[in-house]
Amino acid sequence: MQGPEVETVKGILEKLTEVPRVTGTEHKLSPILRELMEPYSDAFKVDVWGNSEAIVNPGGKPVVMLAAHIDQIGLIVREITEEGFIKFQAVGWDPRVLYGMRVKLLADKPIRGIISVLPPHIFRAYKELAEKKFEVRDLAIDIGVESKEEAEKLGIKPGIYGVPDYKPLSLNDSYFTSPGLDDAAGVTAILQAMRKIWEIRDRIDAEIHFVATIQEEIGLRGAEMAAYRIKPDMAVAVDVTFAKQPLMPNEFTLKTGKGPVISKGPIYHWEVVELLERAAKEGDIPYQVEPDFRGYGTDTWAIQVARGGVKTGLVGLPLRNMHSPVEVINLKDVAWGGSLLAKFIEIL
Ligand SMILES: [Zn+2]
Repeated sequence: MQGPEVETVKGILEKLTEVPRVTGTEHKLSPILRELMEPYSDAFKVDVWGNSEAIVNPGGKPVVMLAAHIDQIGLIVREITEEGFIKFQAVGWDPRVLYGMRVKLLADKPIRGIISVLPPHIFRAYKELAEKKFEVRDLAIDIGVESKEEAEKLGIKPGIYGVPDYKPLSLNDSYFTSPGLDDAAGVTAILQAMRKIWEIRDRIDAEIHFVATIQEEIGLRGAEMAAYRIKPDMAVAVDVTFAKQPLMPNEFTLKTGKGPVISKGPIYHWEVVELLERAAKEGDIPYQVEPDFRGYGTDTWAIQVARGGVKTGLVGLPLRNMHSPVEVINLKDVAWGGSLLAKFIEIL
C-alpha cells in the first residue's frame, strides 16, 4: 500500500464525514457527491430520493452496480418538554452509547446539545434507577434553554434531524475515527475504485454504475430503488463489518489492517465471490473471508432480490465500535477495498 493512496482515501473520508448524512437528509449530500464523482464518470445523476449515481462506459456489458450507503444513523426530534428538554427517536443506537453524547440538531442554524446523564451518586442512592434499563425514550437533549418557547425560537421543532457532534480525527498513521464511517468508508472505497477505473476505462468492457444509496439504515431502501432502475447483471455492495476489538466475543475474528472482507454464504453469488477472490489474488490485495449464512443486514440483500434476481456480492470493511460516535477504521483497508473493486471490474 502506497502512502499517496492512503492520503487520497483520508481526504475523501474527511469530506464525507464533515457533513451530517443522517437517514432522510441524503439529498443534501448530492453537491458533494457530484464534485467527487462527476470528474471520473461519463454521466452523473441524482434520483427523486437522493440516490447519487455515476455511470462509466455506458453501453458496455455486463452491467455492474457498485453500491455503498451514504446515510448514517441519527435521530429525530419528537417533542420539546415545557422545561425545554428535547425528546427524540433514534434508530440503530444502543441507549448506553447515546447517554452523554454530544449532538448537533439540524435546524436552519445548527444547534448544539448534549444528551443528559444522571450523576453516579444518584444511582448509588436510588436502587430502582440503578437497576433500570434505559431506553431511547427515557433520554433527552439539553440545548441550554429554560423553556419550550426558547427552544422553538432557536428553530427546534418536531421532525428536526440530529447527528452526533464529533469531528473526524486521525489516530496514529493509518487509523481514522468519526461517527458515520458506516458507511462513509464504503462510499470512499467506491469513489477510490472510480478513480482507478477511470484511468483504465479504455480497457473496460462493463457498464458500471457507482451508487451512493440512501436509507440503508432503515431498510435498504435506496439500494432497492437503484437496483430496479439499473437492472444490473451483477452487483457488489460495500459496507462495514464487525472487527475484533476489546469486549467482542471470540467468534469475531476479522481484523482491521488486514484487508477488505469477501463474504461467503447463500446470498453471495458464487460467480461474484469467485471473481472477487480472483481479483484479490491477481491484484496482490490482502483480503479476509467472512462466512455469513443469513446476510440480511446490507444493501446486498435488496439488490439480490431486485427484479428477477441479481448476482450479488459483498465487500466488507472491518470497523471497530460500529454504530457509535467513535467508529474506527483502518485507511489501508479502505484503499485496498477500492483496489479490489477496480480489479474486479478490470477482469470482467
Ligand atoms: Zn452500514
